[in-house]
Amino acid sequence: MSTTHIKSKRRFTEHKPLGHPMTLASDHKAVVEQTTLFPSRIRAPDFSDRLFKSGVHSRKIGSHVTKGVWAGMPIFTLTLEERATCPTACEHWSDCFGNKMHWSTRFKAGPELERILPGQVKTLARKHPQGFVVRLHVLGDFYSRAYVRLWETMLLANPALHVFGYTRRENYSPEGDLIHILNCDFSDRWRIRWSERGGEMGTVTLKDTTVRGRIAEGIVCPAQTEGDAVSCGSCGLCWNSSEPIVFITH
Ligand code: SF4
Repeated sequence: MSTTHIKSKRRFTEHKPLGHPMTLASDHKAVVEQTTLFPSRIRAPDFSDRLFKSGVHSRKIGSHVTKGVWAGMPIFTLTLEERATCPTACEHWSDCFGNKMHWSTRFKAGPELERILPGQVKTLARKHPQGFVVRLHVLGDFYSRAYVRLWETMLLANPALHVFGYTRRENYSPEGDLIHILNCDFSDRWRIRWSERGGEMGTVTLKDTTVRGRIAEGIVCPAQTEGDAVSCGSCGLCWNSSEPIVFITH
């Protein structure tokens, strides 16, 4: 696994201790009303917003891919509102790591977002004709079948678009069914893993902060355990491999 260091321009350090999630009470307003803990950080998108942020602002993501078939491509992230866009079955409904992300802008899901996204993806595709990567979603999830369909349309229209990320939707749900089809039909450009499912293209989350490398459940995400030496850009396991990835609760 490469340990190439990718420069980050992040304004705030992200070294949040592993194994100590912020857990909200079951009757907390954000839990009950299915919202972020930071409603002031929700933004209704308009055409002047830049929906995609460069991965350079995140230590864990990194600015570019440096290994594997997507090497050389810049990475961008999209952040939606946690809980509001997620299935209530999520194991991390109360201890979502968004509970610790005070500063992140969450773009409001819905028709306005869907009107703006295609143009911004096209702009990135023009700027990076050799390819670019979108990490979906730093927070939030695929919130409707129409939203997944939109990504299919954008994949078809933009051969430069490459996507990786995670979903807690079940693969037999209306959204998951389509996500699975895209994983098959665009397997070289669309790599969405199944959160908390384990197995092929799955992820699991453990509370044990001592795990490293390859363990029974899968490969432990090195960006969580190797400090600044590894980012998604220098690792690439999530899209270059189908083996389950293990995350440590944080
Ligand atoms: S395992 Fe996945 S999430 Fe972890 S650093 Fe590698 S690509 Fe990123």
